[in-house]
Formats: sequence, C-alpha cells, structure tokens
Amino acid sequence: MKLPFFSRTATFQHGVHPDAHKGEVARGIRRMPFPEKLVLPLSHHIGKPSLAIVQVGQEVVRGEPIALADGALSVPIHAPADGVIEAITMMPSARGNWTESIVLRVYQASTQEIRWAEHRNDIDAMDREQLLAAIKDCGMVGLGGAAFPSHAKLLSTPFEQGIHTLVVNGCECEPFLTCDHSLMREYPQELISGIHLAMRAVGAIRAIIGVEDNKLDVLEVIRPHLPNDGYITAQAVETKYPQGAEKMLIKSLLGLDVPAGGLPKHLGVVVHNVGTLVLLSRLLYAGAGLIERVVTVAGPGIKKPGDYWIQLGTTLRSILEWAGDPACAEYEVILGGPMMGQAVTSLDVPVTKGTSGVLVFDKKMLQASSQRGWACIHCGECVNACPMGLNPAQLGMLASKREFDEMAGQYHLGDCFECGSCSYVCPSHIPLAQQFRAAKSFLRERKKA
Ligand code: SF4
Ligand code: SF4
Repeated sequence: MKLPFFSRTATFQHGVHPDAHKGEVARGIRRMPFPEKLVLPLSHHIGKPSLAIVQVGQEVVRGEPIALADGALSVPIHAPADGVIEAITMMPSARGNWTESIVLRVYQASTQEIRWAEHRNDIDAMDREQLLAAIKDCGMVGLGGAAFPSHAKLLSTPFEQGIHTLVVNGCECEPFLTCDHSLMREYPQELISGIHLAMRAVGAIRAIIGVEDNKLDVLEVIRPHLPNDGYITAQAVETKYPQGAEKMLIKSLLGLDVPAGGLPKHLGVVVHNVGTLVLLSRLLYAGAGLIERVVTVAGPGIKKPGDYWIQLGTTLRSILEWAGDPACAEYEVILGGPMMGQAVTSLDVPVTKGTSGVLVFDKKMLQASSQRGWACIHCGECVNACPMGLNPAQLGMLASKREFDEMAGQYHLGDCFECGSCSYVCPSHIPLAQQFRAAKSFLRERKKA
C-alpha cells in the first residue's frame, strides 16, 4: 500500500497563537484527595445514558460497576471510591441542564485501594471483537474532551475501510492545559502499549505521534520506547492553535485534506488522543474500569495549580475547597480549555470522563476586563485566522440577521468546528464562534422537530 508522506511544513494554514499559560508540568502529576461526595451522571459520555444497577443505601467498593452500558453507543460506569450510594437523583451537569446521577458518599476512613479489578493475561491473544468488548467493559471514552465511547470509535473504523494510519494526538494546543503533556512524560511505555492496542483494533500498519514543538522534552522521553523498525514514529508539529483538531493534525502530519463533510477514516486514518491511549493500556491489562483521570487545574483563581489524578464525580466545589484561592471574590469556572471549553454556572457540576481541565478565574476581574462587541470593521483578521478557510465575518453578519439556512448552504457553517480562532482575533470583540454554535444548535433542533 502506498502511504502518504509527511508534509514538510508539519503545520496547517491559518490558525492563531494565543499565550500558552502552561507552567506547571515540571511538578509532575499529583493526586487530589478524595472528596466526601461523588456525583456520577449516567450520561458521562456521548450516546445513550448508562443504566444504574445499584440502589440507595447499597455499599460499593472502589472499581465496582455501578451502571451498565445501554446499547452500542454507551459505556458502563464504575465506583471511583469505597462508599455508600446516597441518592440516584437529578443533579446539575456541565451543559447547564440537570441529569440523572448516582451520588456516592465516600468512606473517609477507607484506604481506597482498587479491589474490583483482576489483572488480565489474555489481552494480547484477543481477536478484534474480544478486544473491543474489553475496551467497552472498562468504560473507556475519548479523554480529549469529546467523551465518545472508544470501542464505538474503533468499531466504526473497520479493517475493510482500509485504515492504514493511527494518528496519535499529543498536541494539547489549548492554553493552560498540560494534562496530556504530563501523561506523555510520565507514562511513555503505557502510551506505546495503548498505541499497539488501538492499531490492532483498527488494523493500522503504522502510527504517528504528533507533538507540538513547545513540548520537545516529550519526544526525548518517548523515542527510546519506539520500536526499531519504524512503524511507530513521533513527530514535532508547529505550536499553533488549533493544531490538536483532527483535520488540522492530519494535514500537518500527512499533508492530507479531510474533505468537507468527510471523516478521517475516509482517508484511511483514525485519530486518538494520547490520554485515551495511556488509560486504555493501564485499564485493559489491569482488568479495571475508568474511575479517575488526569485533569489540569489552573487559572488565576487557583492557589495550587497543576495536573492531578482526580476521581470522576468530584465536584467543582470540592476542587475549589482544596485548590482554590480564598482571595478570589467569586469564581468563574471553565471546563476544558479557554478556547473551546464550557463555562459552568453551578459548582455542583462534577468532573466527568471528558473533563481535561478545570480553569478558574476571578469573576469580578473578568467582568472588569470584558469588552462589549462593536460593529464589524471588515479588517479580514477572522478570515486569516480560520483554519477551515471559512468567512467568519460573513457568517457573523448572517447570524445577526438569523439567516441560518444561508449560513449552512452558501457559507458552509457545517465545516465550522467552533474552534474560536475567529473570535480570538476579532478587534471588534464579536462573539463569532458563540453565534455559530447557536446557529448550528438551532438548525439541529429544527431538523429534529
Ligand atoms: S470558529 Fe469556525 S469559523 Fe471561527 S475560526 Fe473556528 S472553524 Fe473558522
Ligand atoms: S475580525 Fe471581526 S471586525 Fe474583522 S472582519 Fe472579522 S468580524 Fe469583522
């Protein structure tokens, strides 16, 4: 098979260069203490919510399944701590709505060893179906933020599709976020092992790890673990936002354009995030479920910034009680990075499988520095910034007139992945990406209706 070559530039066209604000990697990954209470939404992932199999008052041990997958696009949930089920009730979620959740009261005197796991020797002998079933059983989803069930993503890229390349996304291009950087530095062996597992699951014959060139220390750590015959390689790409978007990374590493409306698999490529692959290896061989993840906790409202192993279900309130700056008048919290993350309104929202960052700002300071939007001055900065080659100024003008059909038909709104580069550069502070998100949501809802 003739495989595509690396592009010489190792980058894509357009994009932006926001300040990195990445300073805490050198301290290594630490562990945040167990909170008193964990809130586990049954909808931890994209797809059908899981089915609770525990009852109020029931004691559970750390790692025990407490909810089962409900269908193909669903995953089980495991107890992140020894404790007792306090309630199964509606609780606030990151999306702003309330969602059915299992509330677990944590036993504070417990050593919190994982007791519901059994080391597996059979992983390397499994065929593809068995491997995908094992991945589903451990509750894995994409940890880069999308939270799409991993078994379903691997299943949707079958051998017959001619997948040749696994692209491993180690870019972490959002400001502040460093959890993937820390994982690559501290778990290089698990990363390579996870890559082998994903390659087996999709039938890829090579893998390329893409790392932004502001993390060259990672390449030094990884390279001794790469196989000698070159079927797994690591490559630096330009530090630029949104380098970690699937289409941008494929362009940078392989010089290939994913066509409008197409998917990487149509080019024989599948993309997985480094954090997902590290955890995949750790959990599969341990025969354990996904109960904790590494999260970057950072921002001006945080006293103890860094990358932490945090139990799923830990609420923002618990994180702030432990790491927040008491001098902060009122917290403004973003889940994920500042470019594509989600501002949350309730501190009772928990860390879920897709939470890569908890960024905390002082609300009063943000309000003082926020600027109102002005009219478009037709400077063209947003057009130069858009990595998808769209015309955000025109889209913004149509959005303000609610001409959503024209946005979708003539101006390819569907190709916008809401990266926020256009909003970031706009001198008139027009919230372009927010307008596009609202327009897409309107069109989606109308189609459903
Ligand atoms: S948010 Fe959409 S329109 Fe704006 S730069 Fe990103 S892809 Fe382009
Ligand atoms: S960057 Fe802002 S002001 Fe400039 S053309 Fe785009 S929308 Fe208009």
